[in-house]
Amino acid sequence: MAVYDFTGKVVLVTGASRGIGRVIAEEFVKAGAVVAGTATSEAGACKLESELTALEASGKAYGFVHNALDLSAAASLVAAVTEKCGAAPEILVNNAGITRDGLFMRMKDQDWDDVIACNLSAIARLTKACISPMMKKRSGRVISITSVVGEIGNAGQCNYAAAKAGIIGFSRSLAKEVGARGVTVNCVAPGFIETDMTKVLPEAALQHWLENIPLKRMGQALDIARAVLFLASDDAAYITGATLDVNGGMRCA
Ligand code: NAP
Repeated sequence: MAVYDFTGKVVLVTGASRGIGRVIAEEFVKAGAVVAGTATSEAGACKLESELTALEASGKAYGFVHNALDLSAAASLVAAVTEKCGAAPEILVNNAGITRDGLFMRMKDQDWDDVIACNLSAIARLTKACISPMMKKRSGRVISITSVVGEIGNAGQCNYAAAKAGIIGFSRSLAKEVGARGVTVNCVAPGFIETDMTKVLPEAALQHWLENIPLKRMGQALDIARAVLFLASDDAAYITGATLDVNGGMRCA
């Protein structure tokens, strides 16, 4: 049984085809929301729509194609979601993200640019496209998935850390701009979560991280989804400009 009730609320979740975004989208559908989930391909969007619909939960799900590297696509995505779902998103979950790791001295400019575009600039564009209807309605939630790496840094991820730290500063600032209109802006900072993104890590890196996690395990996508649904709920109405760490204790190690 769902902990929260988001019946009828339109929720836009980017990167909902796999990993963390997928579980966030599932949990919102189970809680009665009308979920617009994105994937980078038509096949991915169709698959996520049919699989979320097959949950036979109280909510609804629609799949949309969105490539965050195309910064001009944000406004048309929000227009399409609004038309299909019958209302503008009241909850925006900026989840889609990529890595292009490498030591900074050898990092290609393209790898820097792509990570900043997908993980930071795209979030600003999408949030801009969603925020006016939220402010008019005097109700809204913007929740962005940052990372422990944006808080503590990580060798080989200067581009990713810069983008993720940028999301935190962006969210705090926007929270101050829109708070008076009933819109909250928060981040969730995952630690080390079992998804395709971390599958590619070498065993030695994995062991190093595990040694530094007080709870001695990797997190699951559901751990992050639960934090996101909490921040989207009425229980979190007085929380804004915050970053919720969901990392098994990595920052107190
Ligand atoms: P993932 O398993 O690699 O899934 C990435 C999702 O983003 C997919 O739905 C993918 O769509 C989508 N995506 C990829 N490139 C995109 C693009 N150019 N435009 C729009 N969407 C794109 O990643 P994850 O581990 O679930 O990570 C989700 C978020 O959590 C990311 O922001 C990540 O930085 C953050 N995070 C993850 C971890 C972790 O340990 N996993 C830790 C901290 C933070 P397709 O299926 O179509 O490719």
